[in-house]
Amino acid sequence: ARESDSTSGDVVLELDNVAKQFGTEDVISGLSLSVRDGEILTLLGPSGCGKTTTLRLIAGLERPSAGHIRLDDSAVAGEGRFVPPEERGVGVVFQEFALFPHLTARENVAFGLQKWTDEQRDARVEELLELVGLESHGEHYPEELSGGQQQRIALARSLAPEPEMLLLDEPFSNLDVDLRVEMREEVRRIIKEAGVTAISVTHDQEEALSISDRVAVMYDGTLEQVDTPERVFQDPKSRFVAGFLGHASFLSGSVHGDHVDTALGRVLRDDVNGLAHQYDGTDIDLLVRPDDVTAYPSNAAEANGRVVYRRYLGPTVLYRVELDSGETIECMHNHSDRIDLDERVAVRVTADHELAWFPVGQRDG
Ligand code: ATP
Repeated sequence: ARESDSTSGDVVLELDNVAKQFGTEDVISGLSLSVRDGEILTLLGPSGCGKTTTLRLIAGLERPSAGHIRLDDSAVAGEGRFVPPEERGVGVVFQEFALFPHLTARENVAFGLQKWTDEQRDARVEELLELVGLESHGEHYPEELSGGQQQRIALARSLAPEPEMLLLDEPFSNLDVDLRVEMREEVRRIIKEAGVTAISVTHDQEEALSISDRVAVMYDGTLEQVDTPERVFQDPKSRFVAGFLGHASFLSGSVHGDHVDTALGRVLRDDVNGLAHQYDGTDIDLLVRPDDVTAYPSNAAEANGRVVYRRYLGPTVLYRVELDSGETIECMHNHSDRIDLDERVAVRVTADHELAWFPVGQRDG
């Protein structure tokens, strides 16, 4: 795991070399992570990689098998201590929202405030209903609320007791696609306005990129990379991260002085992220995303591939081109420049940013 210093703020949560076994199975191993005050960090990874287990370890719903966890500089797990969930000051928003069906929206939000005075509680509940935009729905029961409204109430309920930290487990999976996109914006706004540190879990890369300040990409119980959305996407540290965060083609190249020779022609070494001159004479793989290349129909000598797959996606079309070199590359186009299946094309690298690269032979994740 590599971590960049892209957001400032004090560290409020620290996982140090945390491991978790269930029986003899290592579900989490050697996981270290620092979360900073006020940031939204998302654990992203495929099903079964250990995201929910990590969240449960932070919440205190599981005990680590090794390593320790510190909240605000004091150990909550490991170092001979275990602080139970209710004493950690952590709010959890569950996938299915888990609202109490027999309580109104207002009563749901007030649920964690039983020790507050009536006056304080009423004021806090009003404040939260307003924050989530449901001032006029306080008397509704959960079944009278839409999915998005239920999610807002679930958030309000978790935020009401002023937790140090909010944990969200697949918060959008119960919403239909259109609402998901809208609620991502809303959930981010609400968390930021509440000023709370948040850790979310998802296997949806678009969701992770759009709501997070930093994304922690997990694979098989370990962290692959922790970085800003831009960096995990544009500068992935492993092939697994590259492939998990969107379409990725790998184009083999050999470095010769100030350029890299590829099946798509020369790419300047300066246009490849951090490719130092000591790689001169070696073979590398360039990460090429569908937006980084352009293909156009051509029967001339410049043609270097053939379209073997075409998928219409509405605003764009995704093409897969088999290059004469034997490599396969994907490119994304505006729907208006139609290229047919089997057509000969010339493919060019047209990226307007530095390309990422991997040494040949690095494991595929
Ligand atoms: P998903 O996105 O499918 O929820 P995840 O990344 O959140 O996956 P976890 O739920 O953390 O993954 O599970 C990681 C692994 O640990 C899985 O192989 C799972 O079967 C196993 N596991 C989780 N909880 C337990 C448990 N209580 N007992 C035994 N095995 C468990």
